[in-house]
Amino acid sequence: MSFQEEFMRRAIACSCENIKLGGGPFGAVIVKDGKIVAEGANKVTINNDPTAHAEVMAIRNAAKNLNDFNLSGCEIYTSCEPCPMCLSAIYWARIDKIWYANTKTDAKNIGFDDSFIYDEVKLPLEERAIPITQLLREEGLQAFKQWEQKEDKTEY
Ligand SMILES: [Zn+2]
Repeated sequence: MSFQEEFMRRAIACSCENIKLGGGPFGAVIVKDGKIVAEGANKVTINNDPTAHAEVMAIRNAAKNLNDFNLSGCEIYTSCEPCPMCLSAIYWARIDKIWYANTKTDAKNIGFDDSFIYDEVKLPLEERAIPITQLLREEGLQAFKQWEQKEDKTEY
């Protein structure tokens, strides 16, 4: 068994264990330097948190455990191909590589369809399902100007 399979088996085990705990069938682990540094499982219904997907939970745990918001040098093993939110979180976290087991079609087949979000992202703003309207840009820019001028900021 390759070490990659070992890590994926742990992510899959997290997904199975999570069902018994009342959560969704999704698990993930984050690996750095050949060791698991964090695990995560879907806590959407348990925590009443729609953003608590397995990958997001694993990223939060890894960042906390490593005391770093930048997870470059890490790889994520997820029991299912990431949804657009998790994929974005993985990019924001600067994770080096994604390994997945189930496909998004496998997820769709059991009632977890995220393909509509992938489709939405490609649409012009005015054609999206959730209305999105710009308001008070000039006032909103104040924070950006302050940020631009701040000299002791933590860039990320
Ligand atoms: Zn997700």
